[in-house]
Amino acid sequence: MQLSSRMRTLVQAHLVDTEPYDPMFSPTRINLSANENTYGLPDAARTAIDEALAEAVLNRYPDAMANPLRDELASWLGVDREQICVGNGGDEGIFNFLFAFGGAGRTLVTCPPDFSEYAQFAGLTQTAVKQVFRDPDTMLPDADALVAAVATADLAIFTSPNNPTGDLMPLDLIERLCDACPGLVMIDEAYMEFAEPGASALALLPRHDNLVVLRTFSKAFAEAGVRCGYVVAAPDIIDVYAAVRQIYSVSCLTQAAALAALEHRADFEPVIARIKQERARLHEGISALVAGLPAPARTWPSSGNFILARLPQASRIRTRLRDEYSILVRDFSYAPGLDGCLRITVGTPEENDEVLAALAALIEEETR
Ligand code: PMP
Repeated sequence: MQLSSRMRTLVQAHLVDTEPYDPMFSPTRINLSANENTYGLPDAARTAIDEALAEAVLNRYPDAMANPLRDELASWLGVDREQICVGNGGDEGIFNFLFAFGGAGRTLVTCPPDFSEYAQFAGLTQTAVKQVFRDPDTMLPDADALVAAVATADLAIFTSPNNPTGDLMPLDLIERLCDACPGLVMIDEAYMEFAEPGASALALLPRHDNLVVLRTFSKAFAEAGVRCGYVVAAPDIIDVYAAVRQIYSVSCLTQAAALAALEHRADFEPVIARIKQERARLHEGISALVAGLPAPARTWPSSGNFILARLPQASRIRTRLRDEYSILVRDFSYAPGLDGCLRITVGTPEENDEVLAALAALIEEETR
């Protein structure tokens, strides 16, 4: 997208070539492209949310810091309210991290392939980015290179489980990174509820006061449309978040919907367990499809609600899935480090059956 010549003179110089984030959405029967929870809300949670929304007071400003929600999160996570800041989606927590702690003359370390928003927001805030690429085959980070990079950087963001590669960042590596970095280290745990217990960096907060953990209601809690996320960190970091945020960014409707879902968190456990079972089935299914193909076709184990697969003719397969089967998956084949890769969200059993059958037919046709 090219800005008009008028806008190119009016907009700040560093924003002239900024591209809007493109979710590459097109309407389809089965959408497995955005790592949403395709099971939807459990009935009891949905009812509680509807009741809470019906009672929401709309003519008054919302609680600026979302204190009832903070209190419920604090008791769930075993931290203090003062360690939490709620935002309009996890996106806000990432943006404000860069807005407050990045900026001109500062450097952010990332570990791509990762969530493209980090680089996007770094650009908006004039933060330089130092990328330490993952191994192109295993997709795992180079631990020593990361530690060396953060030692001379101002801040860092790593994703665990990583979108789109699915791996967890080991806790001992997170500790090394926190020790090495003179600034703040964010661990983006948007998908952590889908991982095995014990993987969250929240456990490290008492030992590392430069650690920031990001979470969201968009994935496991099936509320991507609600726009609610939060950061957990030392209280003085939260003071900075409170100071820079847009005061009423989290509407009373968002607060009510997130709180009601959280109060019903037990109802999400069977859904999450089901998604994990289906993740294993989808991974096995796709692994079997690529098993007979020449390298570099492969798939990777995932701790998130998605599977990354490297396929021959990936872009064509993604287009044919969309146009001939009305199934949408995410094409990353153009992205650095992700040659030939598609990312497929774990769907319902029926959705996964359909995507496996369609992939089997398309891979067969495209490699004949
Ligand atoms: N982090 C990661 C790794 C993500 O994949 C996403 C959503 N795609 C987010 C953060 C932001 O999610 P939200 O703004 O919906 O909370």
